[in-house]
Amino acid sequence: QMRSEVKGINIEGGVAKSLVYERKGELRTVGFRYLVGADGVGSVVARSCGFDLGGYEIIPTIQYVMVNCRIPERNMIRVYLGNEVAPLGYVWVFSKNEYMANVGIGVRGKPAKPYLDRFIVRHPEFFGNAKVIKEGGGGVPVGGQIRELVKGNVVLCGDAAGQVIPITGGGIRSSMAAGSIAGEVVAQAIEAGDPSVLRDYSVRYSEPWGSRISKSLKVLRVIETLPDDDLNTLGDLLSGEDIIDLANGLDVKRVAAKLMLHPMVAVRIASRLI
Ligand SMILES: Cc1cc2nc3c(=O)[nH]c(=O)nc-3n(C[C@H](O)[C@H](O)[C@H](O)COP(=O)(O)OP(=O)(O)OC[C@H]3O[C@@H](n4cnc5c(N)ncnc54)[C@H](O)[C@@H]3O)c2cc1C
Repeated sequence: QMRSEVKGINIEGGVAKSLVYERKGELRTVGFRYLVGADGVGSVVARSCGFDLGGYEIIPTIQYVMVNCRIPERNMIRVYLGNEVAPLGYVWVFSKNEYMANVGIGVRGKPAKPYLDRFIVRHPEFFGNAKVIKEGGGGVPVGGQIRELVKGNVVLCGDAAGQVIPITGGGIRSSMAAGSIAGEVVAQAIEAGDPSVLRDYSVRYSEPWGSRISKSLKVLRVIETLPDDDLNTLGDLLSGEDIIDLANGLDVKRVAAKLMLHPMVAVRIASRLI
């Protein structure tokens, strides 16, 4: 049902049986055999069905759509790190063309908006005459995937399950992959008449996505302890490909091995990444 809001899930004898939703001010109930909770951050399905949300951490983000910018490149994204710029997060500038850009920030433990506004003021070369035409944002779950993706006849996908790459906050591809696998597995469970088939969803998702998410989280836990000087050292030592591999949990071991060759960071950083 479009334009409906799920309010809660009815559980009977430990099995999710029906959901209550509101449409045009009226509460209605609909029954189901299987339920896919892809309802994002703050998932009603996750909470109503008693999924273990320990470790689920949401960071606030704010994003402006800005026009009249002067961004020199079209096919590049800019990312700014640093405890002064975005404590435990980053600022992004995604240019849509030379004049228009999505400019956003995610931070942890501090209010996001003052940092984003200050960043814009400090970069008159890009934003001197620019104007914000739209303000948005929302929470991004960066604490890694929740422990169990399946509970009886219910599966969780996407932000609801913390399926976001923690360092980048990117969750579109990982959430789409989850939805696609969940759809197939639910169809198989219906055919087999056996909810235990849903467990295949966790297994199939674990490689590559689950593994990427947990590796990226491990890297985040190291990076978030580093002062700006160390971040600059990493910036000097690592190539663009290294940073992508590290941030996305793709080949952390290779990058850690490369850092091991540098005495300045071998013990403090590289050894903790392995
Ligand atoms: C500002 C910002 C910028 C981002 N930029 C990027 C990016 O550049 N690249 C990237 O990969 N990721 C990005 N992300 C993350 C990405 O948007 C999410 O990880 C992704 O959208 C998750 O998809 P989802 O389907 O799980 O959740 P959502 O996209 O949040 O979809 C959940 C849906 O469920 C609906 N819903 C929720 N509760 C209920 C309810 N009770 N009843 C009925 N419907 C309900 C919502 O209306 C929504 O339509 C960004 C996030 C933010 C906040």
